[in-house]
Amino acid sequence: MGELRADGEGESSRSCPVCGTAITDSHQRRVVSCIEDGQATHTHFCSTDCLEDSLES
Ligand SMILES: [Zn+2]
Repeated sequence: MGELRADGEGESSRSCPVCGTAITDSHQRRVVSCIEDGQATHTHFCSTDCLEDSLES
């Protein structure tokens, strides 16, 4: 919080895979980490609701 970083552009912008909402630090975002093929991936969800929605499907 309170820390500004200017590396948001260029990187693929994160958006919620469930509803498509752009993820920003102001959202109550949820990040899920999992390991696939020995590589850690992080999926960002805009809310707990979308996280649970994704896990159930
Ligand atoms: Zn969402």
